[in-house]
Amino acid sequence: KKVKNTDDKLQHEPLPRKPAVYVDVIRSEEIQQARMKLPILAEEQSIMETINENHIVVIAGETGSGKTTQLPQFLYEAGYALKKQIAVTEPRRVAAVSMSQRVAEEMNLSNREVSYLIRFEGNATDQTRIKFMTDGVLLKELQSDFLLSKYSVVILDEAHERSVYTDILIGLLSRIVPLRLKKGDPLKLVIMSATLRLADFISNERLFRMPPRVINVESRQFPVTVHFNKRTPDNYLKEALNKIRKIHTKLPEGGILVFVTGQREVNWLVQKLRKAFLFNRKRALKGSEAKAKKSEEVKDGEIADQDLDDEDAGLKKGHRKRRKVKVIPQIDLDDYSIPGDIEFDSDEDGEDHEDTLSSDEEENGAVESQEGSRATTQPLWALPLYSMLPIHKQRMVFQPPPEGCRLCIVSTNVAETSLTIPNVKYVVDSGKCKVKLYDKVTGVTGHVVHWCSKAAANQRAGRAGRTQPGHCYRLYSSAVFNDTFAEHSPPEIQQKPVDDLYLQMKCMNIDKIVNFPFPTAPDLMQLKTAEQRLKILGALDDKGNVTPLGRAISKFPVLPRYGKMLALSHQQELLPYTICLVAALSVQEVLLEVPIVASPNLEEAKSARQRWNATRQRWAGSGQSLLLGDNMVLLKAVGAAEYAASRGDLQRFCEENGLRHKAVVEIRKLRLQLTACIRDNVPELADIAVDPQMPPPTELQAKLLRQILLAGMGDQVAKKIMPDELKEGEEKAKFKYAYRANNMEEPVFLHQGSVLRKSLPEYIVFQEIYETNKMYMRGVAAVEPEWLPVYVPQLCNLSDPLPSPEPIYRQDTGKIHCYVSGTFGPQAWPLPRIEV
Ligand code: ADP
Ligand code: MG
Repeated sequence: KKVKNTDDKLQHEPLPRKPAVYVDVIRSEEIQQARMKLPILAEEQSIMETINENHIVVIAGETGSGKTTQLPQFLYEAGYALKKQIAVTEPRRVAAVSMSQRVAEEMNLSNREVSYLIRFEGNATDQTRIKFMTDGVLLKELQSDFLLSKYSVVILDEAHERSVYTDILIGLLSRIVPLRLKKGDPLKLVIMSATLRLADFISNERLFRMPPRVINVESRQFPVTVHFNKRTPDNYLKEALNKIRKIHTKLPEGGILVFVTGQREVNWLVQKLRKAFLFNRKRALKGSEAKAKKSEEVKDGEIADQDLDDEDAGLKKGHRKRRKVKVIPQIDLDDYSIPGDIEFDSDEDGEDHEDTLSSDEEENGAVESQEGSRATTQPLWALPLYSMLPIHKQRMVFQPPPEGCRLCIVSTNVAETSLTIPNVKYVVDSGKCKVKLYDKVTGVTGHVVHWCSKAAANQRAGRAGRTQPGHCYRLYSSAVFNDTFAEHSPPEIQQKPVDDLYLQMKCMNIDKIVNFPFPTAPDLMQLKTAEQRLKILGALDDKGNVTPLGRAISKFPVLPRYGKMLALSHQQELLPYTICLVAALSVQEVLLEVPIVASPNLEEAKSARQRWNATRQRWAGSGQSLLLGDNMVLLKAVGAAEYAASRGDLQRFCEENGLRHKAVVEIRKLRLQLTACIRDNVPELADIAVDPQMPPPTELQAKLLRQILLAGMGDQVAKKIMPDELKEGEEKAKFKYAYRANNMEEPVFLHQGSVLRKSLPEYIVFQEIYETNKMYMRGVAAVEPEWLPVYVPQLCNLSDPLPSPEPIYRQDTGKIHCYVSGTFGPQAWPLPRIEV
């Protein structure tokens, strides 16, 4: 109640004016001029007054108005970083890193003062004054310091994105702000958002009893003409390529920004654009001459648009011939199929997916097109942008293209609101975005490419009008837009499992999670499933309270099931292996399924595949090690990669052995981080270190590791489908690798790459089920049925002691043991008779 009172007070009585403190910042002339152009600068005074006089302020403004880069500076200059730090959270890693660098640069400060912290890396220290971080990182910090006492201000950026962590942070901070006020050590909360759907958190009485002050930053948005496609093509990538070609060869100067869905598509398109403009240098040259002539006629987007539409119409009416004979000399980008081409439609992974283009190739590509630029008058400077792009490449998108080049950035939805690319005049919008879908109950994952929302499409279009009037080309029809697009995409919290969130909240002593002031509540079913799974793990007791194990688990920066595996394995001297395993399991797609062989020679491709399968089998070991299954391959592969890295040979090693280089790099980081985390949290293990020369586990260790896997993933057990269980009409051959998962009806299969296809053990645990043409299991290991009651007691239904054989006293345990029978899981698989 007291908290509520202060809450009212802070909304009603203006705070006494703070004496003005000005901390000098010396900016370069160039920076100062760029800043002056930002709409938010004109509002500095009123924004700062509002923040000084209120505790919770919402700042809404169009993307590019200067919120992210300027607000931390305003606060710094007003003295907010003198005694404590300024925290800025971003839902995306790429934004946290990139923005901290930009702000440091603008303020003439080093990364010791303006720093960042994301899951695997950072340069933030106690000296840091402005700290950019991902929202997940701040949430973790809350666990050890619930009042966030080292910060004077928390800025939650990109709140409209509705990432799970930002949502939770809003809920938590709505309570923390009054608590800090009560302590006499006030904390300011600034929520920043694009001008989208503010109502969810502003007029949400569970969150804020009184709506917080909202400042709208006026923005200078130039008109953007939106052009819909007449038809919606099946292949939006090819269509995008076409459209870019048309824009580039026919329309006046100005950068192009292209939105597609994932890293793979981005790289594919960039590669195509670069190749096209390199191989057809002569034609490109001619094309640009023609363009120079034409440019007098084509000055304005209106004419240009007609031009584009004419061509569309021409295509439709069967005027293909005209294009075949190439009246307008230009590169035939339609001819884009090359051997070893990536099948982008079956891309299973989201943003984090590695491309098949190695970074070397990418670099060369850039150089090549630069060379191309000397030969032609107007080459296209095509750059990729996605969240996992290395930092130095991210920075390139902000730099002007080389003299005489047109800038073309191919991006995932990172460029939708997080990053503003300068000088974009044309936006090409596929209208698609990739969503990772989870089945709320079974946890089955899959990536789907969806239509994005109307709000997102409009946001994308807006990117074309930052500096001048622009054009947005939508690669779909207006009918599709009107009838199929949702108004907004649903908040992330309603789309993913909330296990780690649930446990973290429980550890923060938030008892009734159902009553938590979520901006949008996750559905009840999801919360229930999370609670269920945490109970099976033993992280929560029957009443739903956190167990000591649960607390230990929550300390690890990984999913609860992996946290449990780590928490368990220090007793078995298995920790280095488990760390390695967990690191590998937390990173997606370490092993490439089939090596990408660029050779057009089928035989060669086939033998490469065979070599790779052989390597995998060799890695899988034998005996107990083989039963550790695909996880064993991971373990050994990562160990070997580590060794290669210590000799500076990692890249080549990965290429030769079908490992994804970037995944291995990430695993190494995570291994170090986990090791440090364990060192700090488990005193008796204070001297563990990552051993680059970790030997493969012994037979016994391999067996123990399987038990640890079962302990962590006991809710994901599958049992081989025997021939006599097949229903009528089901072909035996098709079910050779079929299993029944304990929580699912449909059969699930061992993937083609799985080493367990040789031994086909009766019971296995799996890391995840994913769906392509069939349901496949990833990360499988064999388990013994006798282990189930021991490691997954919550899912076993055990009988009363059996009358025979008779209970006996055992000296080694000092207990009376008896035999029971029982079943496992909801499908009541019979367990063997076991001694308890
Ligand atoms: P908002 O947060 O309101 O979307 P930002 O603060 O991100 O706006 O962007 C303000 C301006 O700063 C934009 O014009 C953007 O292009 C520019 N900017 C951001 N980062 C960089 C950078 N690394 N280099 C050059 N300009 C940048
Ligand atoms: Mg921003």
